[in-house]
Order: sequence, then C-alpha cells, then structure tokens
Amino acid sequence: MKRAKVNQNINLKEYSDIWIIGEQREGKIHPVTIELIGEGKKLAKGIDNKVVVVVAGYEIDEEINKLLYYGVDKIIYISSPLLKNFSTDGYASSISRLILERKPEIVLVGATSIGRDIGPRIAAKVGTGLTADCTKLDIDKEDGKLLQTRPAFGGNLMATIICPKNRPQMATVRPGVMKKAAHVDNPSGYVEVVEADITEVDIKAKVVKILKSSKKTVDLTEAKIIVSGGRGVKGPEGFELIKAFAEKLGGEVGASRACVDSGWIDSMHQVGQTGTTVRPEIYFACGISGAIQHLAGMSDSKYIVAINTDPTAPIFKVCDFGIVGDLKKVIPAMIEEVERN
Ligand code: FAD
Repeated sequence: MKRAKVNQNINLKEYSDIWIIGEQREGKIHPVTIELIGEGKKLAKGIDNKVVVVVAGYEIDEEINKLLYYGVDKIIYISSPLLKNFSTDGYASSISRLILERKPEIVLVGATSIGRDIGPRIAAKVGTGLTADCTKLDIDKEDGKLLQTRPAFGGNLMATIICPKNRPQMATVRPGVMKKAAHVDNPSGYVEVVEADITEVDIKAKVVKILKSSKKTVDLTEAKIIVSGGRGVKGPEGFELIKAFAEKLGGEVGASRACVDSGWIDSMHQVGQTGTTVRPEIYFACGISGAIQHLAGMSDSKYIVAINTDPTAPIFKVCDFGIVGDLKKVIPAMIEEVERN
C-alpha cells in the first residue's frame, strides 16, 4: 500500500475556509450535514473564514439549493452520473482532488458509515491527519488552530488533538452532537457546480442493486423522546414494557450496551460512546446505572428522567427527575397516567 506523503513544508497562508463534506443518501441530505454547518459557522467566527459545503452526487439540485437556507457562504456541488450512488473510490477521489486544488483550512466530515469510510481515505490522499469521532470542536484563540476533542481510553478521559503542521485540519464529527444550523430567510451564499475529476476507471466497485433492510430502522438522533432500557429490565422480555412506554409517548427505544451485548435488543438502539449520541427533549433512563460511556451519548438531553432501584446509582447525579423504584411498577403507573391524560 502506498503511504501518504507528509506535507512538511506547506505554506499555511495558502489555506483558508471551513469545508463541510455534505452527505446525501439517495438524493436526500443527511441531518449531520446541517449539524456540521452549525458547527462550521461557529468556528468560522473564530478565524474569520467562510463556510463552504461540498456535496458529491447527481441530479440533486433541489436539495443542494435547500442547503443555502442554512446560511452557508458557498456550496460546491460535484456533479456527475458516476457519483449518483455512493462509492468509496468515486467520492474520496473527487473530493480529495478538489481539496488539493482549493486548499481549505479545515475539513469536517460526519462520523456516519459513509463519513467513516471516506474521511480517512481523503486525509491519506491529501497527506494530512484526521481526528476521528470528535464530540467537541473549538478554535485556539492564540494561534487559530482547530482543537479537536474526542473520548479516549475507553471514554475515561477526553483528549484534545491538534494538527500542528499539515493542512487541512480534518475531523469526523459524531452525528447528533452538534447543534443544527438555524434556517435563514434571505440566503446570501451561492452554488458552484463543478465536474467530477474522475472517470469510470477510478471507481473499482460498482453498485448493482440497492437492497433495503426489512428491519424497522431506528433514528435515535432525530427522536424527541427516547425511552431507554438497561440491565435493570432483566432480559429481552423486559424491553416489551420499554417499547410500550415509548410507543405511548410517540418516542423511540434506546438501550445501554449491556443489553445489546447480552443480545436483548439490536445494536441500532444502543446509546453511548460506542453507540449513538442523542439529544432528545426527554430521555428516560430505565434500569440504567449511568456509566460514563452511557452518559457520553445522552447527557446533552434537555430533560433526563431516571428510574432505578438503587438510590446511589450515578444516573441520579445527572438526571433532572429521579424515581427510586422498580421499573416494573413505575413504568406501568406512568403509562396509566399518560392514558388518563
Ligand atoms: P448496569 O451498570 O448493570 O446497571 C443496571 C442498573 O439497573 C443498576 O443501576 C440497577 O440498580 C438498576 N436496576 C436493577 N433492577 C432494576 C429494576 N427492577 N428497576 C429499576 N432499576 C433497576 N455502555 C453504554 O450504555 N453505551 C456505550 O456506548 C458504551 N460504550 C462502551 C465503550 C467502552 C470502551 C467500554 C469499556 C464500555 C462501554 N459501555 C457502554 C459499557 C458501560 O461501561 C456500562 O457497562 C454499561 O453502560 C452498563 O449498562 P447498564 O447501566 O444497563 O447496566
């Protein structure tokens, strides 16, 4: 495998602007793109840079134009029939070629399955580093560098990483962590359409057919209400009560990793450091102790309600409302209360 060259003698003054690598799936913009725009706009203020969104795809002009209403300065739309479907080679090659040509200062990518696939490849192609799975970004007031914070050592500490010499400074950012950009009524940005600098030879894998999973997918990042179950539910059947409560409230079902590892519920429900990061209006933690790795994924919820038999459980230190009691008694009583109203 070819190693990427380290750009030791680059002229830092040639680099400017914050690029968001926008993500689209089947022509629809992924919510993480709006979160990254929100974060990019915040960072841009610190270094007086422009916010540019780069989206690869084909025949998605309407979705591209909608992005202008999040107040970005510019959208670079890499348009080609070769980019209609996602391909690792096609997307990574066309985006990295544009980065080498235009020299952005910062490049942010969503830490989704697509972003985790192309992010490191783009970094290797342009000869820079990448901090994966960031949960916080900031600008160093002294030297304008990007401070990239992510959990390290099993979530026991938060590490802040910088990219001292190479450019761009690249990071993938966890979906659901950053606040979405606000809508603007009169956008001042514009769209630049560029042709993809790739040919069919660049794309080694071909999409033959897209098969949709028959499983009901769970979108925890967008949920307003989440009812999560932990080891305290005592088994897969315990999740029936969690599901019934979530359904009554019009919410989604979450879970701790202990339940996922025990095979009680599918991994797409896992909340936490190695699961999904969520920030609903209300998060119910039922039979969850509140381990640091779980808290890493839900502590930004607006209200946290904890139900636990152990009054010393750490979850009670972070919750807004705590109920010391058996979830098998507390949840049915709450369902009854909701039905009554
Ligand atoms: P426990 O810690 O066993 O807590 C169960 C709780 O249920 C207890 O507080 C108990 O008092 C209560 N309880 C028992 N019976 C009842 C009842 N009848 N009614 C009410 N309460 C009751 N964990 C995650 O959740 N998400 C992650 O993403 C994640 N990532 C990790 C990454 C790494 C690298 C590591 C090392 C660990 C990770 N973990 C993660 C695991 C984490 O450390 C904890 O082990 C896990 O969160 C514990 O799950 P729990 O709270 O359900 O179980």
